[in-house]
This record gives sequence, C-alpha cells and structure tokens, in this order.
Amino acid sequence: MRRLVIVLADGLRPDAVAPGIMPSLDALGGAFTLARQAHTVRPSATVAALAALATGVSPQTHRLTEPGLAFLSGLRSLRPVARELGRAGIPSDVVTGELGPAALPIAWSLASTAGVRRLVAKGSRARDTAAAAHRLLSQPEERLLFLYLPDCDRAGHAYGWMSDPYLAAAAEVDAAVGSLARWTDEVVFIVTADHGGGGVRANEHDEPHPVNDHIPLVVAGPGVTRRHQLTRAISLLDIPATVLWWFGVAVPDGYEGRPLLDAFVPAPAPTLAAPAPRAASVPA
Ligand SMILES: [Zn+2]
Repeated sequence: MRRLVIVLADGLRPDAVAPGIMPSLDALGGAFTLARQAHTVRPSATVAALAALATGVSPQTHRLTEPGLAFLSGLRSLRPVARELGRAGIPSDVVTGELGPAALPIAWSLASTAGVRRLVAKGSRARDTAAAAHRLLSQPEERLLFLYLPDCDRAGHAYGWMSDPYLAAAAEVDAAVGSLARWTDEVVFIVTADHGGGGVRANEHDEPHPVNDHIPLVVAGPGVTRRHQLTRAISLLDIPATVLWWFGVAVPDGYEGRPLLDAFVPAPAPTLAAPAPRAASVPA
C-alpha cells in the first residue's frame, strides 16, 4: 500500500531547519535526503507556488496567481497531479489549518477542480492540523495526502521572518513534523515550503531575492536514500514529477520538473538465479 505525504510549511526558510529551532525536521533531513537550497518558482508567492505544485508547471505557464474564476478555468486546461493520480485509482486528500467560512468553499472548489477527493480544514496550529492527518493515515488506504501548515507565513507577515514569533511558529511546525515522523517506516514524506521571506522587506516574500526564493526539501520514508544531501539545483517543480513517478504514473510531457530519482534507493536488481545449464556449445 503506497502512501505519500507532502507537508507544505508556508514560508519556511531553509536556515530555520536547524537543530536549535526545528530538531525533528533537522534530524529527519539528516537521516534521509535533504536539499537545503531548493528553489521555488517566481513569483515566490503562495498561490503561484501551490498551483505549480498542483499542476507541475511554472506560474509563467499556469498563470494562476490569484484564486478566482480564471483559476478554475485555467485548471481545467492543465493536468493536475491529483487528477492524473485519480485516473490511476489513487485518491488525493488535503488537510489544512482552519479556514474561515468564506475561504472554505473557495478552497474546496479549487481543490476539487484539481482532482482532490477530500478537503479537511482543522486546527489553528500545526500540531492540531497534523492530528487530523494522523487520523487519515490511520485508515490503511493508498493515497496522496497534502498537508498545508500556514503557521510560519502568518508569523513572518506579522512579526518578520526569523523574528522570535516566527521561530516559535517554526518550532510549532517542527512539533507537527515530529509527531508525523512515527509514520516514516510506512509512509514517504516530502517536507518543503512554497517560499522563504524577509529577503527585501522583513515581513514579505514576493520580491526576487535568494532568501525569498530558497526553500528546504526533506524526503523521508521507506526506499528513500539515507544520510544524503542533494547539492545540485532542485526546483519545487521537481516535486509533482516525483510524486507521479513514485506512484508509477506517467509524468505528462508538459511537466517542467524532473523526478528526484537520486532521493530514492534504486530498486534492487532481480536476484540472479543459479546459472542455467549451458547448452552444448556449437562449434563456430
Ligand atoms: Zn505570505
């Protein structure tokens, strides 16, 4: 039974993934595969990046930068990950922190148009939202689960990236990751972010700047390469391609990223059976 969880920590900077701030995520990255300098898309903004994750193409292609009606019709002409998986019989569920009464129907119409089966909005902090993800993982069913944690972005906008409240939010996200880490014997996790922040303005993240553009990426779970750092260029767009590849579903030609094959241990070669008895040699 294959299960893959994407944990998207909105606004999490790679330099917050450190033992003193996020011990669980830091340990997970150290034990499995970690990229400290992956790149998000441009603009480094949440809707643009989430749409890229959902569709496998950059904002220059998907043009989905504002949620709304254009977003819905745009999605119909793309090949979202959840729809490709759904055609192969693999459902996709989304778990997010609490959404207001106005935001919930918008989120659901976007998610369902993208092929998502179920949207659960629960918890005002990361560990409560992670508890809802636990309940879904307790049901033994093949699926993609997308877990969205807004804590760091909220604190970054209110108090500045890497401020004390931001670091407290990162610790909260780390508690959520730590509670989910018990599943890494059975479930593959991809923990990442949509953008950093504080590169140009302390409370924003949209402008081009390395501190806004860099995101952490941790891959953990069964079959994942251990104690491995990816130092080559990694893009957020490699994640949707990796998800389809991992589930054995063909990656659409239009996808702009490539599966992170080096994050996974190559499948073992078939065991060599005892050599078959040689046929009598035929003289040349
Ligand atoms: Zn933001």
